[in-house]
Amino acid sequence: MIEVSFSLFYAIYVVFLSGAVFLMWFLNESKNKSDSFEIESENAFWQCQICAYTYVDSHSKDISICPRCGSYNKKSIKV
Ligand SMILES: [Zn+2]
Repeated sequence: MIEVSFSLFYAIYVVFLSGAVFLMWFLNESKNKSDSFEIESENAFWQCQICAYTYVDSHSKDISICPRCGSYNKKSIKV
């Protein structure tokens, strides 16, 4: 059996761990370049009827919940 000191084992462990982290980072960065963050449409902007808070909600189409006061807003109000 190969004898490995604790410091050598720890050094190998750190090298492999940091290599794995850098590999995952590189893969994630290359994936994110293809689909950069964009707001899908201008309809994602909402203004609350109660507190006049303007926010982005790209998932809701007709009715959205205000993140500040929790009231429901219809899409008829445009910013
Ligand atoms: Zn509100």
